[in-house]
Amino acid sequence: MEGKVYLVGAGPGDYKLMTLRGLECIQKADVIVYDRLANEDYLKEAKAGCEIIYVGKAGSHHTLPQDEINALIVEKAKEGKWVTRLKGGDPYVFGRGGEEAEYLLEQGLSFETVPGITSAIGGLCYAGIPITHRDYASSFHVITGHLRDGAEEEIPFEALAKLRGTLVFLMGVSNLKTITEKLLAAGKKETTPVALVSWATRPRQCVVVGNLKDIYEKALEEEVKPPTLIVVGEVVHLREKLNFFEERPLFGKTIMVTRSREQSSHLVMKLQDQGASVLECPTITIQKNEEDTSPIWEELDSYTYLVFTSPNGVKYFFETLHQRGKDARSLSNMQIWAVGQGTADALKMQGIRADGIPPKAIAESLYESLKEHLKPEDRILLPQSQIARDYLSEALKKHAHVTEIKLYTTLKPEGLSESYQAALEKGEVDYITFTSSSTCQYFVELMGQENLDKLKDTKLISIGPITSKTIQSYGLKVYKEAAEHTLNALVDTIVQDSLLKSKDKE
Ligand code: SAH
Repeated sequence: MEGKVYLVGAGPGDYKLMTLRGLECIQKADVIVYDRLANEDYLKEAKAGCEIIYVGKAGSHHTLPQDEINALIVEKAKEGKWVTRLKGGDPYVFGRGGEEAEYLLEQGLSFETVPGITSAIGGLCYAGIPITHRDYASSFHVITGHLRDGAEEEIPFEALAKLRGTLVFLMGVSNLKTITEKLLAAGKKETTPVALVSWATRPRQCVVVGNLKDIYEKALEEEVKPPTLIVVGEVVHLREKLNFFEERPLFGKTIMVTRSREQSSHLVMKLQDQGASVLECPTITIQKNEEDTSPIWEELDSYTYLVFTSPNGVKYFFETLHQRGKDARSLSNMQIWAVGQGTADALKMQGIRADGIPPKAIAESLYESLKEHLKPEDRILLPQSQIARDYLSEALKKHAHVTEIKLYTTLKPEGLSESYQAALEKGEVDYITFTSSSTCQYFVELMGQENLDKLKDTKLISIGPITSKTIQSYGLKVYKEAAEHTLNALVDTIVQDSLLKSKDKE
């Protein structure tokens, strides 16, 4: 069967400005081909085993020429794969999406296009500039600023200058001088407002405002680089009132979030909602163990106990069970135990109430509770991680027959990435959050004790007294502690500190 290609608009950059259909195309893809302006965080949504190919273009340094990109997409689709071609903004706004779709048709392949929020509109919005407004602009024009040598006449500057609408030039920074000169020569007033919006909708969004006469000089001073939108028109003034994005309390702040081995990312979201740029420390990743355990699945009837020591154990056990065409009914012969409430909750999701949960959520307590019930003829099935301690299986073996199944492996990251280490060293990270003692211990493990002096320019924020003690035990200084032991209070501590600092500056 032949595959299909989905040309997907990834939106202007902010992670949440992508359509639901676009996200679905990322989650289902066998191959994702993406370029520079698409937010890389979307790739985390790809399924395991998805092939991810970068064909980014940075200015004139094309990583892959267009015809090679086309050929690559066709090759993958012909292998029967779901190919998602992820493009910044909207695929049909100067994204060459139309050309790619035509080429696919020529090759006899089918395609779908998923529109995205174009930077030409969404990017302006996040800079506080509405593209139309009844008082200032009754139309808008989106124009390519990418001029081939001596091809300025391709753009009808005379006509554009006469319009009472907003002009948005994409790919135009390197031709800013020509663009402003041509508009002035065509009769636009020198005082016409101009904004240059770089990395729109991203935490590093940066806006330079001027007018047709002075904007080129300002761009040189501020070293404006692509990707940048050039906005010409009276609507630029509205930015003074409507600039909600850069007004968020943590805009411009970089915050590193340390997590323990299993923690979820609520904190990351809360900080991002306040405008922060968040660097997430890597956590343990989990990989399914493909080893063949088939005999066990055929003789489930012969076991009397099924013992789970983690929610992941439950997840992978039932995944495999279902893959083998079986369901919970094959477990009716067994007493099912869970090490703690989290594991019992995971079982509940599978429609199973745990028969036993020990008083403490640790293997030792599980053993003490379970052994009371065991008879020598009992057969225990113990699904675990490949790196689980031997303790539980060894202890249980004293009382009954035990079969372990190693369903998954936990992979530890090698350390903190070089770019994170460099950001810390250069003092680019404003805050680091610690939400428990274990996040601190895990962070020190990742960072390496010997590198802790790199944290000297960064403010360490702790969620409470016990966490603070752990931080101090490594010789580190706690800058502030949350008033209450909650994520909201932690975020609030940073917001208050950051507001205080900006007041100091005023
Ligand atoms: N299809 C894209 C545009 C591709 S052309 C869209 O609909 O947005 C590439 C140009 O788009 C860049 O040179 C820049 O001018 C503009 N652009 C795209 N994303 C941007 C962003 N986040 N900030 C500023 N300009 C951006």
